[in-house]
Amino acid sequence: MKIGVLALQGDFALHEKALARCDVASVEVRKPEELADVDGLIIPGGESTTLLHLMEEWAFVPALEKFHAAGKPIFGTCAGLIVLARDVERPRQFSFGFIDVGVERNAYGRQRESFEAPGLAVLDGKPTPIDMIFIRAPRIRRVGAGVETLATYQEEPVLARQGSVLVGTFHPELTDNPAVHRYFCGMVLRAAGRPGAGALPSEASR
Ligand code: GLN
Repeated sequence: MKIGVLALQGDFALHEKALARCDVASVEVRKPEELADVDGLIIPGGESTTLLHLMEEWAFVPALEKFHAAGKPIFGTCAGLIVLARDVERPRQFSFGFIDVGVERNAYGRQRESFEAPGLAVLDGKPTPIDMIFIRAPRIRRVGAGVETLATYQEEPVLARQGSVLVGTFHPELTDNPAVHRYFCGMVLRAAGRPGAGALPSEASR
């Protein structure tokens, strides 16, 4: 199993480190055709407008739509969540709409541009401590009926999932706590339909 990290902009290198902590191989994805080689994709934080421009410039829009339609898991953090959401406000901008949430960008206000908080997520049915670092974070203002909230901060959803799409308003890759990445790796492994395959020497031996 191999997970791609979209490496057009933002803090992609830290996601690779987080995946390494989960003993999962990662690869930087810079061109749409590279999506064919990965079982899941992380879209990192950064600046969503810049990220969208680069994605459009590099023809990622149809390629990512195809990737999603194939049921391959995608995890978006912060700006990554903004590009995956159904609706985006302040300002309104294009988004893929792969998860039925409405988000407001930079929604914590100037005094709280960045902050850290401990949290508890329910991951695979188990309460799991997580560490949340918010940086000019969006807020999830609306959650559709098909969306599962996995963690909240001050009673608002901050980690959510719909099918193969996982999103967080915070940056788990900036902490040493691998819980959220580990959960995503589990999603990817299950979607690839090869439970335990990551631990096997090679496909060829079967
Ligand atoms: N404020 C950024 C945006 O609106 C997101 C910030 C982040 O990814 N840390 O795109």
